[in-house]
Amino acid sequence: MADNKKMVEAITSMDADFAQWYTDVVKKAELCDYASVKGCMVIKPAGYAIWENIQKELDRRFKETGVQNVYMPLFIPEGLLEKEKDHVEGFAPEVAWVTHGGLEPLQERLCVRPTSETLFCDFYAKDIHSYRDLPRVYNQWCSVVRWEKTTRPFLRSREFLWQEGHTAHATAEEAEARTVQMLNVYADFCEEVLAIPVVKGQKTDKEKFAGAEATYTIESLMHDGKALQSGTSHNFGDGFAKAFGIQFADKDNTLKYVYQTSWGMTTRMIGAIIMVHGDDNGLVLPPRIAPVQIMVVPIQQKKEGVLDKAYELRDRLLKSGFSVKADDTDKSPGWKFADCEMRGIPLRVEIGPKDMEQNQAVLVRRDNHEKTVVSLDELEAKAGELLETIQRDMLEKARKHRDSHTYTAEEWDEFVETINNKPGFVKAMWCGCRECEDKIKEETGATSRCMPFEQESLSDHCVCCGKPAKKMVYWGRAY
Ligand SMILES: [Zn+2]
Repeated sequence: MADNKKMVEAITSMDADFAQWYTDVVKKAELCDYASVKGCMVIKPAGYAIWENIQKELDRRFKETGVQNVYMPLFIPEGLLEKEKDHVEGFAPEVAWVTHGGLEPLQERLCVRPTSETLFCDFYAKDIHSYRDLPRVYNQWCSVVRWEKTTRPFLRSREFLWQEGHTAHATAEEAEARTVQMLNVYADFCEEVLAIPVVKGQKTDKEKFAGAEATYTIESLMHDGKALQSGTSHNFGDGFAKAFGIQFADKDNTLKYVYQTSWGMTTRMIGAIIMVHGDDNGLVLPPRIAPVQIMVVPIQQKKEGVLDKAYELRDRLLKSGFSVKADDTDKSPGWKFADCEMRGIPLRVEIGPKDMEQNQAVLVRRDNHEKTVVSLDELEAKAGELLETIQRDMLEKARKHRDSHTYTAEEWDEFVETINNKPGFVKAMWCGCRECEDKIKEETGATSRCMPFEQESLSDHCVCCGKPAKKMVYWGRAY
């Protein structure tokens, strides 16, 4: 047990120092490592396997709505990036530039894509001619580069992986419907697969995407009470279409501009999984996203027949469709238990000589450490039931945490007091003025997370200036 204890002690307690706890988990669970380029990360097998599961699940859900995958180039010519004014102003400060091809200076600088609206627009301008070409519902899986000043693994890095969907439609209504539809895909994915509850709403003008008419967002709450923007969906109206000249001949034979959307989700969701579900023993993965759902751990594995039994149980569970491994390394059972916990494996199956005599195994849940002794005759059924229960309980626990860390404030003093002393979301009324939003950020560090689709009327006046209120807003400090 000595080496087991040492391993657990190596993580900082989350209540003592949440940021250090996060870094410890990322490292000890072997999710990623630092790279020689500052602010970039090496995603290791355990981390990349989570991303592959996110991809698989999202991609399936996208395609059910008619999405097709494509691939655009990595580089954007400077002239192309500059075509839409708001867009270039929003992204210019964090763009990385290529100035040379081999030894020759380039005639026009190339930017490494921070996002690909301009490339899709350039393509659509050539590719869309008639109403018959619409809608275009394309997506690409790729990496993008944003030269961030402060970075953290998964949450903010200079290069990150994501998907970006870009669509073109004949009418404004159709574009709006697609914007909302994709936000709902993200929200359902977060709740059903990642067990992360989200608040759906619209970003204020200050927080919306550069060049968008409207940005919709899902916001989630981390264990430390900070918010995380978890997925966004933008309605561009016909702004990009006009800047790039994307026109089509409609049924009435007149030329019209298309209406566009874009939407994205990134590897920062791995950070969200860590910060919503993790505990002082390490990572806790929801069964539906866990690359390894069950670990079979042999007890006294040198005794005759134990290892073979462990392999047999592994193979039976694999056959039933679970993702399973058996830990047959020569470490002590205590070390293996701690290792399973650190890596967040949802369910552990312990099998030793005594269990074999009684035709049973011990199943241990990662989320609450509960042990269940099951007859080997019903191993597969019980394991399946437990994984479903874990998935459901994790969502419920996260929802309770979110709800018990969501506050309301009607007056300014109450708002400042809450933001400073009670980490979480604060719901408060807002007049709609940029000045109040700026003042709130300056004086409390909180930003408007979203104007939720489900509005409530908490009072008739703005929490900041006292003037008549227009919207209820979720405020909070954010990653
Ligand atoms: Zn105000």
